Amino acid sequence: MEALKIKKILACCGVFAVLSAFVWAGDAVGRKAQARIAEAASAPVTEMPQVALDAGHGGMDGGCVSVNGTAEKGINLDIALTERELLNIMGFEVTMTREDDRSIYDKGVTGLAAQKQSDMKNRLAIFDKCGGIALSIHQNQFTDSRYSGAQMFYSRRNSGGERLAGALQKQFVSLIQPENQRETKPVDDELFLLDKTDTPAVMIECGFLSNPEEAALLETAEYRSQVAFTVMTGVMEYMSGYAPSERETGG
Ligand SMILES: [Zn+2]
Repeated sequence: MEALKIKKILACCGVFAVLSAFVWAGDAVGRKAQARIAEAASAPVTEMPQVALDAGHGGMDGGCVSVNGTAEKGINLDIALTERELLNIMGFEVTMTREDDRSIYDKGVTGLAAQKQSDMKNRLAIFDKCGGIALSIHQNQFTDSRYSGAQMFYSRRNSGGERLAGALQKQFVSLIQPENQRETKPVDDELFLLDKTDTPAVMIECGFLSNPEEAALLETAEYRSQVAFTVMTGVMEYMSGYAPSERETGG
């Protein structure tokens, strides 16, 4: 069983080149992505656990809104759907909290507050049931439009989550945001899902919808694919225990 899984992942190495070429169309970043992913994929992988994938918000809850009026919930969902495809190709088993524009509260629950509570409880159940890792996809917003860049949040209670956040943050810097100097951030009970689950979990704030340039990027399908690809490389790094040197230069 285990050997089969490893075989499947190794067989997927060739798929990396195809995927990254699809996402990056062969520019310098694309070549770097290919090299990175080939290294990560050839590192010994001992297990391929499940991934719980949460597209933040949905339905009545739009999340934050970009400077152009685009709701966060749709951007989150699009990235999450692409993420599922990429992770599926790599042999991961993915469970999503939602696959379309909806809130997942229990039938019969009425009132916005109760529906939100039920929705979060159901997302938590999906995180808890997952034997592997959990990712929650979100977009950030701030009053000062200058702020940009992805940032990973994890629970102080979970060392796996911290390591996963580190892998993801590093891949964002390495592949698509070389200027990003943000550090991963521990949270306590201000983020319900991260605080309550025992599954190693990370909230991925992909970028700031309050920043005009970043919002414009996140509103393109191409950039959203690149974000999804970047997240996949972070997951691969975490899973394989692959630890490249801190910051690579050139190439
Ligand atoms: Zn959000």
